[in-house]
Amino acid sequence: MIGNSSEKPTVMKNQQTKICSKCKKEKPLSEFYKQGGPCKCCVSERSAKYRQENADKLKEHRAKYYQENKDKKAKYYQENKDKKAKYHQKNADKIKEYQAKYRQENADKIKEYQAKYLQENADKLTYVYIIKLLSSERGMSCEKIKEIIKEHPEIIQMKRESIIKFRKLKQLNHEIKRASNA
Ligand SMILES: [Zn+2]
Repeated sequence: MIGNSSEKPTVMKNQQTKICSKCKKEKPLSEFYKQGGPCKCCVSERSAKYRQENADKLKEHRAKYYQENKDKKAKYYQENKDKKAKYHQKNADKIKEYQAKYRQENADKIKEYQAKYLQENADKLTYVYIIKLLSSERGMSCEKIKEIIKEHPEIIQMKRESIIKFRKLKQLNHEIKRASNA
């Protein structure tokens, strides 16, 4: 989009400034792009005008680009996923060992982080929340809990319901206590 030969700016004798071919103003060299064309101001004005005038065409172009790249991206993602899965499979023991060591060395940090997460996300009861809660209650790693859940996926919903019941009961007890004190 920048410049054509008819718009070559005039270079002044001292080489410190140029006269813009479009706005005819004398400006320092830093106000021009190295590849030529009018001053940066005029270029950005022209691009803005171009974008405005061709908004529909550009939108169409973007949509087409997006569509074309969607398939490519999906393929890349799948390949990458397969590669990752293979890597994990091949190095399962090493990874497990590393994770166990990490957990052991960072037990306090993990506990602290988990407690904070549970406190901040208490109202969510998401899959992640339930996993972390079980992990914290049982003193087992999240990975171990996830393995168990894989075998018994119904645990998540059971735990969720039991949390809701427990909280309701707690609330009820609180209200009874308050009523009896009144
Ligand atoms: Zn200009």
